[in-house]
Amino acid sequence: RSGFCSSNSIFYSKRKPLPLPPNNALDVTTFISSRAHRATTAFVDAATARRLTYTQLWRSVEGVAASLSVDMGIRKGNVVLILSPNSIHFPVVCLAVMSLGAIITTTNPLNTTREIAKQIADSKPLLAFTISDLLPKITAAAPSLPIVLMDNDGANNNNNNNNIVATLDEMAKKEPVAQRVKERVEQDDTATLLYSSGTTGPSKGVVSSHRNLIAMVQIVLGRFHMEENETFICTVPMFHIYGLVAFATGLLASGSTIVVLSKFEMHDMLSSIERFRATYLPLVPPILVAMLNNAAAIKGKYDITSLHSVLSGGAPLSKEVIEGFVAKYPNVTILQGYGLTESTGVGASTDSLEESRRYGTAGLLSPATQAMIVDPESGQSLPVNRTGELWLRGPTIMKGYFSNEEATTSTLDSKGWLRTGDICYIDNDGFIFIVDRLKELIKYKGYQVPPAELEALLLTHPAILDAAVIPYPDKEAGQHPMAYVVRKAGSSLSETQVMDFVAGQVAPYKRIRKVAFISSIPKNPSGKILRKDLIKLATSKL
Ligand code: AMP
Repeated sequence: RSGFCSSNSIFYSKRKPLPLPPNNALDVTTFISSRAHRATTAFVDAATARRLTYTQLWRSVEGVAASLSVDMGIRKGNVVLILSPNSIHFPVVCLAVMSLGAIITTTNPLNTTREIAKQIADSKPLLAFTISDLLPKITAAAPSLPIVLMDNDGANNNNNNNNIVATLDEMAKKEPVAQRVKERVEQDDTATLLYSSGTTGPSKGVVSSHRNLIAMVQIVLGRFHMEENETFICTVPMFHIYGLVAFATGLLASGSTIVVLSKFEMHDMLSSIERFRATYLPLVPPILVAMLNNAAAIKGKYDITSLHSVLSGGAPLSKEVIEGFVAKYPNVTILQGYGLTESTGVGASTDSLEESRRYGTAGLLSPATQAMIVDPESGQSLPVNRTGELWLRGPTIMKGYFSNEEATTSTLDSKGWLRTGDICYIDNDGFIFIVDRLKELIKYKGYQVPPAELEALLLTHPAILDAAVIPYPDKEAGQHPMAYVVRKAGSSLSETQVMDFVAGQVAPYKRIRKVAFISSIPKNPSGKILRKDLIKLATSKL
């Protein structure tokens, strides 16, 4: 091959090669801890200013791992659920569980009992970690699941809940000498099971290995170095791959300090930047848009001069937003990251303002990552500047979907290529431009909304004959879930009734925010909804 694109149209990363450890027994926790023993702060709780040094972090991880193994009998391959907002304890649980070769599954705390129960039925965890506020949700979703409380206050107030087996605090104090059962963890063993709807259908467990995470840690490390002493603000959710690879694994290997906010709130985020002199802010586009729209007020009220970079990921960022942000915050470098749960995080990114200024680009391929642009009709791989579906291959690509052979084989081919469901082209310099989405997925404020789930729910309404859910563009949220509904004969169902029906049963971010009635849902001969036609119809007036 010459350059970054071979004669058979495989694109290679232009970044420095990835130094990966030999493919022998190694868990991701050991890989990270062997790099990050620093006499510095790992985490700060933004609300209380409580700090956890790296020494305390690894001590807690060992204690929790010992307790999981000795007291709770957690073994390699067992699944452990975390239902928690961001906290300085969340990474402790992740690292401890993975150090045993056990598997983390996470879920959005906003999810309803019904949604959580579904994930529990699929992933079959043996133990759950949660906070007292979320206890009712988890006990309703899985009445006999043993629970560890991540907050101490909760334990005192919940004496009568028989499912609580320990508090995280007690576990963290366990002497690591109480030898845990040491099982050999291979890099190919499963480390995480995060949920994503992929290109079609409902949410599925994405099986990521220790190797996938180790490769992602190396990718993150390629950008952040020990000596840089960055202070990050963490508002993106740790239950999502973005937050998990940044704040519970990758950045820890760089010895950075991470200021944790339990959830996004503009004032808390900005005052934390000021208070902790934060240097680096990873975000999703809607927050960036809000920072842009309120720039004058923000700069008048908060001293955010310590900030040198903002990273936007998880959803597209428009040229207008990048230009506007650069004009309003000239001392802040804006960077982009593109990735999927199925690629264990970053598949492409920009590394400098100059790269981000190629407006619309999601950046260059991550180290060791290869791409093809495939014509969805002919299946042919296409050369530079031609638009088609982006396929990715490399050490961060998931092993497959959990217990779902059909979804796995339709997403991953036998040569290891992942169909991303994103429509892209790659320019002469190797920059990826995402122009559309082939897959059904809707992204509301960076959160995944699988249309298939909402359609299945709508069809349970007695007055609905058929339904289709599509993305409707929105400046602030990125996209709103919109429903096209076919009413049963004689029904006078209103738009509000449709929205209320869904709102009562799903997490707030999945709510239908726009409804239109139609006489029939356009479908192809095999019954597949022609979403593009509906999107065209919905947006034709814009
Ligand atoms: P998730 O698995 O939740 O991370 O969702 C992955 C999907 O989010 C991708 O397949 C894209 O459709 C979208 N996405 C993520 N990052 C970006 C980005 N920087 N630009 C455009 N779309 C993005």
